Amino acid sequence: MRPFTPEHETFRKAVRTYVEKELQPHALEWDRAGIFPREVFKSCGELGFFGINHDPKYGGSGLDYWYVTVFAEELANSHNAGLNMALLVQSQMATPIINEIGTDEQKREFLAPALAGEKIAALGVSEPGAGSDVANIKTTAKRVGDDYVINGSKMWITNGTRADFITLAVRTGEAGYGGISLVTFPTDVKGYSISKKLDKVGNLASDTAILFFEDCRIPARYVLGEENEGFYHIMTNFQGERLVASITAVSGMELMVKEAIRYGTEREAFGRPIIKYQVWRHKFVEHLTAIEAARQLTYHAVDLFDRKEQPVKEISMAKLFAGDLAQRVAYDCQQFHGGMGYIEETHIARAWRDIRLITIGGGTSEIMKEIIGKTVGL
Ligand SMILES: Cc1cc2nc3c(=O)[nH]c(=O)nc-3n(C[C@H](O)[C@H](O)[C@H](O)COP(=O)(O)OP(=O)(O)OC[C@H]3O[C@@H](n4cnc5c(N)ncnc54)[C@H](O)[C@@H]3O)c2cc1C
Repeated sequence: MRPFTPEHETFRKAVRTYVEKELQPHALEWDRAGIFPREVFKSCGELGFFGINHDPKYGGSGLDYWYVTVFAEELANSHNAGLNMALLVQSQMATPIINEIGTDEQKREFLAPALAGEKIAALGVSEPGAGSDVANIKTTAKRVGDDYVINGSKMWITNGTRADFITLAVRTGEAGYGGISLVTFPTDVKGYSISKKLDKVGNLASDTAILFFEDCRIPARYVLGEENEGFYHIMTNFQGERLVASITAVSGMELMVKEAIRYGTEREAFGRPIIKYQVWRHKFVEHLTAIEAARQLTYHAVDLFDRKEQPVKEISMAKLFAGDLAQRVAYDCQQFHGGMGYIEETHIARAWRDIRLITIGGGTSEIMKEIIGKTVGL
């Protein structure tokens, strides 16, 4: 399945040009700095990359999900997974739920400036004591008059050190999944503070932080959708997050193999290019076959998602399959580079480190198996 129209391909060219010109040359520099310039948010906003499938009334373009697929695929060419993650949190993880169920006020105050790249968005679900077990979050939001008073903390939050607002999961009711709400939380509220940037293994250019809430007051009208229905909204929102993770895993793997093959044509050992050794040609053929399978699984999920069918099983399968496969592909591509595969300047060295996150973030491979198991009655 390759369902891209000429219009999708024109958009692909525009994204590729931007990525190759404005992002790729800084890949190593931004990883070393542990951050990338805030202006990147602004330029992506101006180019319409954040609002691809969002409501045109608030600055989006209202396009289909295949355009999002194109955007996520092309980002791989930046050779900086941390940067890509930050941009995708802004566009496809923290904002879609506001677009879907936010009030006009929430859309004007949070969604529109995020799509324009003027405000940085984060998604705050995970906590020190609850990542996979979302139903067990402990950050509370107590109703006091017309406000919520929020206490607790969030862990591993992408864009965390400089987010202007957070799409935040809080406990407004009983224990368990039935007592959770989502709110839009502006970070200029008194009592809000952040840890220093967490030192990560990979995805270095994205800032990840612990967030603290101490008697933070926000208006109760900042609740997203109905109070205590947040768990359902989080699970809906996770679908887009996981789908975009699968898309980036597939395009990332493709790029790794392409670069490895190119390297192997130039690098010689024992009198011939290393790609001529059958053991490697067979390995890459196997990987290319598996990557194609991952792509078709992912595109099938995209197709269903684009038709608003909530394909939980297919998305979970795509993330599980692509995420696990990416570990083996990255390992082999790095191995094929020999010593150069261990040098920071070589794309594969950083990609091998970065790709490790795919089976952990946004729902681990084990959690994907739990979800798939439930959908097939296991
Ligand atoms: C770089 C980075 C960026 C992130 N960005 C964000 C963000 O922006 N916003 C956000 O909210 N979160 C974010 N996260 C958090 C991420 O989603 C969680 O780390 C992830 O969901 C796993 O949760 P955990 O770390 O608590 O692991 P745990 O839930 O403690 O799991 C530990 C291990 O136990 C396994 N396990 C747990 N439950 C089961 C089970 N039922 N059956 C079998 N095995 C099980 C897991 O698969 C895992 O292997 C980020 C994480 C990282 C590392």
